[in-house]
Amino acid sequence: MVPIQVSHNAPRTAVAILGATGSIGTATVDVMQKMGEPWQIVGISAHSRIAELCEIASATNPQLVAATCPTSFEKATAGGVLTPAGSNMLLGPEALIEIAESADVGTVVAAVVGSAGMLSTLAAAKAGKRLALANKEALVVAGSLVNSALAESGGELIPVDSEHSAIFQALQAGQGREVERIVLTASGGPFRSWTKRQIAQAGVEDALAHPTWEMGRKITIDSATMMNKALEVIEARWLFDLPPEKIQVVVHPQSIIHSMVEFVDGSVVAQLSPPDMRLPIQYALTYPERIDCPCPKMDWSQALQLDLEPADTERFPALELGWEVAGKGGSCGAVVNAANEAAVENFLQGKIKFTDIVSGCRRILEEHHFDPNPSLDELMRLDRWAREEINRWAVC
Ligand code: NDP
Ligand code: MG
Repeated sequence: MVPIQVSHNAPRTAVAILGATGSIGTATVDVMQKMGEPWQIVGISAHSRIAELCEIASATNPQLVAATCPTSFEKATAGGVLTPAGSNMLLGPEALIEIAESADVGTVVAAVVGSAGMLSTLAAAKAGKRLALANKEALVVAGSLVNSALAESGGELIPVDSEHSAIFQALQAGQGREVERIVLTASGGPFRSWTKRQIAQAGVEDALAHPTWEMGRKITIDSATMMNKALEVIEARWLFDLPPEKIQVVVHPQSIIHSMVEFVDGSVVAQLSPPDMRLPIQYALTYPERIDCPCPKMDWSQALQLDLEPADTERFPALELGWEVAGKGGSCGAVVNAANEAAVENFLQGKIKFTDIVSGCRRILEEHHFDPNPSLDELMRLDRWAREEINRWAVC
C-alpha cells in the first residue's frame, strides 16, 4: 500500500483516540506519550469511564474531549469535583463523528468496542484520514462501505489488530498476486485444551481468564468462543481482498507469531514479537517508518518453543461462521456481529450459557433475510433487529 499524503487534514501526527479509556485506547495513550514531539493527542473519547477520561485529558491536553454516554457524564460530574480539561467538551454518540471528521485530526485511532464504532470509522474513512483500526466490528458490519469511502477520499487504513498488522507487514515481502494464502494465528483462548463437555459448562470467570492477552471484556469472551478469530477472518477479507479459502487459521498458544503470509513459491513470511498491543498500535501510527517501541523485545538468548496446531471447528463452531460470512458478505456480517455482541452481553449477565453465544449467532444468521448489497440504513436496521432477537431469546 502506498502512503497517501492527505492535504486537507491536519498532519498524520495529530491523533484522535476514539475509545481512549479502553485497553487499546490506554495503550495508545502510553505509546504516544513515549513517542513525544511532533506526535500530539488532539481528541479523545470515553463512554462510561468519565474519571479516566478526565485523567487522560489532564495528562494529554487535547482540543476535543468527548463523552458518548451523557448519563454517565452527568452522573460523574454532578458534584462538580470532576471537570475534564480540553477546550471543547462534546457530549453524545455523534461526538465520535465530529472528532473523526475534524480538520484538526490527521489520524483516527478507532478503538471503540463493537458496532458503536462503525459510524465514526466510516466518517474517518470518508474524511480521508489515516485510520488506525482496532475496531474490527466496523469492518465486519460495513467493510464494503468503509473500503468505498477510503477509495473515494484517498484515506488509508492501517490495521491495529495484531494478526492483521502482522499480515500487513508480511505482505510487504511480495506482490498481491503472489499470495497463496494468509494464516491467522489464534492463541486458542482459555478453553484451548478443554473438552466439548467442559466448554459447555464454562462460567463467566473461566471465559474471562485469557492466557496471553489482557483485553476488554467483550473481546476476551470472543477469544474464548473463538468468535474473535471468526471476526478476524471477515476483517481480513475486507482488508486484504481475499476469498475465505485463502484465509487459514492455526492455533499458536504462545501468541508470538502474530500471523503469516504464504506466497505462491511456498515461502512463508511471519511477524514475531512478544504479545503487546503497543507495537501494532505504534506501527499503525508511524508506518511506513519504524521507531523504537516501549514493548518488550524477543530474548534470543533463551530457548523458545513455538507450537502450531490445527484449529478445531468441532469444539469451536464459531470459526465456520467466519468463513461463511466472509464468503457471503452482504448483510451477514452486520447480523452475526450484532447477534454476537448481544449474546456476549447476555452471557456476562448470566442470562445464557457459554455455548448459547455461538448457537444464537448461527440461528440469527440463518433466520435473517439476506441482502447482497445493503445500504448503511439497512445495516443499522439489521443490527437492531439481531440484538432484539437475541435479547428476546435470552429471557425465554
Ligand atoms: P475496551 O472494552 O477495553 O474499551 C472499549 C472502549 O470503547 C472504551 O473506551 C469504552 O468507553 C468505549 N465504548 C464502549 N461502548 C461504547 C459506546 N457505546 N459508544 C462509544 N464508545 C464506547 O475494549 P478493547 O480496547 O479491548 O477493544 C477495542 C476494540 O479493539 C474492539 O473492537 C476490539 O475487538 C479491538 N481489539 C482489541 C484488542 C485488545 O488487545 N484489547 C486487540 C485487537 C483488537 P468506556 O471505557 O469509557 O466505557
Ligand atoms: Mg487479534
